[in-house]
Amino acid sequence: MDIDMDNLLHNAAERALTYLHTRDERPVYPTPEAIAGLSALDTPLPERPSDPVAVLKLLDEVGAPATVASTGGRYFGFVTGGALPATVAANWLAGAWDQNSFSLASSPLAVAIETIALRWLLDVLGLPADAGAAFVTGATMANFSGLAAARHAVLARAGWDVEADGLFGAPPITVVVGEEAHSTLFKALGLLGLGRNRVVRVPVDGQGRMRADAFPSLSGPAIVCLQAGNVNTGAFDPLADLIAAAHAADAWVHVDGAFGLWAGAAPARAHLVAGVAEADSWATDLHKWLNTPYDSGVAFVRDPEHLRGAMSISAAYLPQEPVREPLAYTPESSRRERGIEIWAALRSLGRAGVADLVERCCRHATRFAEGLRSAGFTILNEVALNQVLVSFGDDETTRRTIAAIQSDGTCWCGGTVWQGRAAMRISVSSWATTDEDVERSLAAMIRVARNLS
Ligand SMILES: *Cc1c(COP(=O)(O)O)cnc(C)c1O
Repeated sequence: MDIDMDNLLHNAAERALTYLHTRDERPVYPTPEAIAGLSALDTPLPERPSDPVAVLKLLDEVGAPATVASTGGRYFGFVTGGALPATVAANWLAGAWDQNSFSLASSPLAVAIETIALRWLLDVLGLPADAGAAFVTGATMANFSGLAAARHAVLARAGWDVEADGLFGAPPITVVVGEEAHSTLFKALGLLGLGRNRVVRVPVDGQGRMRADAFPSLSGPAIVCLQAGNVNTGAFDPLADLIAAAHAADAWVHVDGAFGLWAGAAPARAHLVAGVAEADSWATDLHKWLNTPYDSGVAFVRDPEHLRGAMSISAAYLPQEPVREPLAYTPESSRRERGIEIWAALRSLGRAGVADLVERCCRHATRFAEGLRSAGFTILNEVALNQVLVSFGDDETTRRTIAAIQSDGTCWCGGTVWQGRAAMRISVSSWATTDEDVERSLAAMIRVARNLS
């Protein structure tokens, strides 16, 4: 079959533009009919090739209406982030380039752009300039990677080579986590053989911050997992104090800062992460607050040797020359090059643009909290960042209200349980959210909630 690439890619661009132009007029969450319509994609495996233009047409006509409009301005579910214009466009180019970024030999572009992206990220987040990094799919794998480096380092100090000899018979590692650590942190600990349950859980305060007065005394190999930005409240563990306490006991400090680490990029919020740069490893997402397309996250490790120790395939793969071979730092080998969109995001925003993106989201969150509070509803968290927890009354009323707000379609917020109480969680994390989006969403929330009660 002759494939007309010009026609195909122009067609894709037109379809994407139509999507963007109509996205804000439809319900934020797809209708049940649109979701049911996905069955049109579910044919028996085709026996023969078909025209890519027809493939794209079917995909768009059936798929687009069933998408969640999370790139629009009124999606506040989870902590999702939008996709900056420059990153969407860069992502298209990256698709056409289809680079395999495991090594310098497989893609010099990948190595170069990832190295630049790393330098810029460390700079904008205020982390040590010579830290190493693993570019991965998201904060789950970033936590995994940072903790793999931690496991390598604390056991190497105890004379144990965990990559070679595994954990059977290894000196025990004390792992400390906060009671409100993110569920994916436990998943990462499980994958690493450190155990989801075999941890010391430190009690937290009403915002989910680890209580410094309850921090355990440590001896022997130890890894302390701190949090910068609780997924419900947006609160930060007392980073400076706990990092100092952990380091006094020679423990490794890993910080899960999936979105909260970005407070460091906005001068008015940077006090929230004061002292974070003293940690040993950090995990963050780029698809959340930097607003790159899915999927993208990064683990930073103060001493890159420990990340290399955990991730190199063998000594033969260690770089002989001063060039950063990506596969020596990542759990994967072959990968798409996420640095392309990260570079485009930071190049298009600049330091001031990143600060403005973060600050604007925080300002919108404050407005949501004020508006809902003055309408008589209860805000369950201290809104210092971009997350807002709302109660509309008892748990049953709150749950019914969330469901009604979701089906109203003006905006989309998820439900959560905060310290035993049902809540609606508003996460403002997209560049696309405007003041008008906030007012329109707020009005819809209040109208729906009042109609129910
Ligand atoms: C979102 C989040 C994660 C998991 O991130 P993924 O990108 O879904 O892998 C981990 N920790 C915190 C605090 C988060 O908010």
